[in-house]
Amino acid sequence: MRVIVTGGAGFIGSALVRHLVVEKGHDVLTVDALTYAGCEASLREVEIRPNHRFLKANICDRVAMDSAIAAFRPDRIMHLAAESHVDRSITAAADFIQTNVVGTFTLLEAARAYWSELDIAAKSAFRFLHVSTDEVYGSLGDEGLFEEVTPYDPSSPYSASKAASDHLAKAWERTYGLPVVVSNCSNNYGPYHFPEKLIPLTILNALHGRPLPVYGKGENVRDWLYVDDHARALDLIIEKGRPGETYNVGGRNERRNVDVVRRICAVLDELVPTETPRESLIEFVTDRPGHDARYAIDATKLETELGWRAQENFDSGIEKTVRWYLENEWWWSPLRDRYDGQRLGLSKAFTAGVAA
Ligand code: NAD
Repeated sequence: MRVIVTGGAGFIGSALVRHLVVEKGHDVLTVDALTYAGCEASLREVEIRPNHRFLKANICDRVAMDSAIAAFRPDRIMHLAAESHVDRSITAAADFIQTNVVGTFTLLEAARAYWSELDIAAKSAFRFLHVSTDEVYGSLGDEGLFEEVTPYDPSSPYSASKAASDHLAKAWERTYGLPVVVSNCSNNYGPYHFPEKLIPLTILNALHGRPLPVYGKGENVRDWLYVDDHARALDLIIEKGRPGETYNVGGRNERRNVDVVRRICAVLDELVPTETPRESLIEFVTDRPGHDARYAIDATKLETELGWRAQENFDSGIEKTVRWYLENEWWWSPLRDRYDGQRLGLSKAFTAGVAA
């Protein structure tokens, strides 16, 4: 199997590339522009493998996409490249429209041009997986779950740009017959997560005795998914999912943000004890504008139709994650120099803060 993974130097993309190259033995071409969020070091485990290649290229560059696809001749394209941080989208939305909307359009067109020239067997076996987020569905109250048929209702520039890209992906299937499958997942966590996001930032700040900023009252609920469980789900969806369909991916691990932060403090206190419990570092800061109250995924379709099950629960996954950060300073230390925890997404500068 020959697979192109866009955004493969990012958090989820690199987990997927490791899975496809090491576990599955597929031939993989990682295509990534190496923005601030891209990190070649996340691919260290696969860089010496003969079945992995890396191409630094922007998905908005049609010529580069055409020539990468023509040279590699993929059976599958798994599209994860995106601008992904909600706070950044509030501060500077243009990059989100460019990469998430224009970039997805460009990649769909390049894939369609290649696919339309394939012979009949290769054409029907080809798959394009568009990876998206549960944030396109908007916000839930105390009850209910996002299903594949939940109407789109995005709140932030990020989720609006992802919603637009989902519509493009679906339209390319309906209009042109390109075999596209869409997945929408909940919040991921795990190793190689860029330290601007809630869980890695909390781990590193807590480790260094720095304040642990929590937006609002910390009551926003997210449904946490361990990144390797997600990588397996994506592999299964592109293998067995039906073109034109959406599959929701979620870990059935709902947690309030403040409880996530408390749990990380407890795990760290156990592994690296200090005199004062790290929970005392928690600081409640000004909330994010348009902050969605609750996300929760109904993954029944993926579980019953394709037989997927999450292997980690939140407690096992968070302990693995904390241990990984303790053991892999080589990876996160250079990134902390690139990103200093500066609060984004507000018009005024605030102290370091982050939300999931
Ligand atoms: P990430 O920000 O860690 O990685 C994104 C990668 O895309 C980076 O390596 C970056 O260099 C690359 N990239 C950005 N713009 C590019 C461009 N124009 N051309 C080529 N490469 C480009 O993101 P992630 O957390 O790994 O998310 C991957 C995908 O999953 C995204 O589509 C995101 O919307 C989706 N998603 C993420 C989460 C989550 O919790 N992280 C949840 C739901 C959905």
